[in-house]
Amino acid sequence: MEKIYDIGGKKFVLDEAKAVQAYQDKQVINGRDTMTFNLLPLKYQWAYDLYRKMKSNHWEPEDVPMQKDLEQWKSDTELSDAERWIIMMGIGYFSAAEGIVGDNIQHVVRELVTAPELKLVLGRHAHEENIHADSLLYMISSLGINPHECEAMFEQVDTIRRKNEFVTEVSKNLRRDLDLTQTSNKQELAKNIFVFGQCMEGTQFYGLFGMILSLARQNKFPGIGQMFRYTLRDESNHIELFRNLFRVLIDENPDIWTEQFKSQLVELMKEAVELEKDFIRDCLPVNSVGLSADEFCSYIDYIADRRLIGVGLEVLHSGLENPFPWLAEMMDVKKEQNFFEGRVTEYQKSSALAEVSDDEL
Ligand code: FE
Ligand code: MN
Repeated sequence: MEKIYDIGGKKFVLDEAKAVQAYQDKQVINGRDTMTFNLLPLKYQWAYDLYRKMKSNHWEPEDVPMQKDLEQWKSDTELSDAERWIIMMGIGYFSAAEGIVGDNIQHVVRELVTAPELKLVLGRHAHEENIHADSLLYMISSLGINPHECEAMFEQVDTIRRKNEFVTEVSKNLRRDLDLTQTSNKQELAKNIFVFGQCMEGTQFYGLFGMILSLARQNKFPGIGQMFRYTLRDESNHIELFRNLFRVLIDENPDIWTEQFKSQLVELMKEAVELEKDFIRDCLPVNSVGLSADEFCSYIDYIADRRLIGVGLEVLHSGLENPFPWLAEMMDVKKEQNFFEGRVTEYQKSSALAEVSDDEL
């Protein structure tokens, strides 16, 4: 029997019995492993919807003007050493972090999941990490920073090195051909998805996001600020993607979700928060430019609890309030009427008109 499926505004006629079988064979892990990209029927509709949302947020670094940033960077009067240091830390840390996230998606998560719509959205996620890495190159070249100096920061700034080690630790042993019928291995994957999505992208990115947006709020580094706001909008989709992936993985594999495992994850978040606080104190050795390290640390406590709640875990503190309500406003780029003017709008239009020619499919 044939049945019509309506997906993303397109109509498909599928043989019902085959569709039911294909649907049943789809799982986050240990599903039908297929090299052909048979997306239909969609089992994880949210993954496809998120893919389309991410695609419509497409941006290109070179569309963001950097003249004002360069003027400020060169000026002795417009800028303090403390502000310059925050920008260096931002570029230095994210240059390493974007690559680490992208590598983990391509070599761990996307390799191990089996459902095609999950691979599709993870491919887009990896691509967005490439855009972020490219945006950092654009900042480096626009300001005339020596790239070796940024690279040296991965090793020489102890708090960056420790943050990086914390995440690569849960990634390096998890490569293709891992036996995912064993509970302990499933837990390793779940841990990886939790650490990357909720601890790293979800929490450890937010100290610098806050500092850089706070500079942008004072009209400092408007170009860098804008790129970080686009990046942040992407990151919020990445956090959602990894949160959904984590929850469906647990749903389909309840053997993962032991009390011991849950407390292990909460401990990991605790460690992530400590590393981030040390890093924040490194970024803001003195309370300058109206920014205090203590306030950013309590912001991280607040964010970490939101992430824990999102995946059904106990919070580290209770009843925390967001110390930076203005930051929530600035992070919500959709609230700004004029933000989509120019190229971003064009990407959205062209993606709406050219639905059939999506190369990714
Ligand atoms: Fe990123
Ligand atoms: Mn990301």
